[in-house]
Amino acid sequence: MGSFVVQFPSKLRNFTVWASPNNGVPFDSPQSRGPVILELPLDKIRRPLLRTRSNDPGKVKELMESIREIGLQVPIDVLEVDGAYYGFSGCHRYEAHQRLGLPTIRCKVRRGTKETLRHHLR
Ligand code: ADP
Repeated sequence: MGSFVVQFPSKLRNFTVWASPNNGVPFDSPQSRGPVILELPLDKIRRPLLRTRSNDPGKVKELMESIREIGLQVPIDVLEVDGAYYGFSGCHRYEAHQRLGLPTIRCKVRRGTKETLRHHLR
């Protein structure tokens, strides 16, 4: 079997390759995975701000009718930190699901750190 040598022009012999994959975020870090769509049980989603925010009952009723008819069209945003799920928005859609007695809700889940969680709770 033969062998060959690749000759670089001398002015290209010293060069540095800067690899910055994933915008500098290591692939195994909590932020490295993009959002995923998951169907999660309602009772698996912690809602730390639930008691401090009240929903518009009219909106919830309209959403219930629409979800019953055509299903949830836009998933709610959920944060995953160390295997636990946290919801801070999508409150009307969440309540509509509760009132309809649906066991699960479609979620757009992104991973975060404890720091991300603290930021949401501030
Ligand atoms: P929430 O607190 O859940 O965000 P909003 O009333 O502020 O409630 O917004 C309702 C959201 O629900 C909108 O973004 C709308 O696009 C979305 N949505 C998802 N599925 C439906 C549906 N079947 N009918 C109406 N709106 C829906």
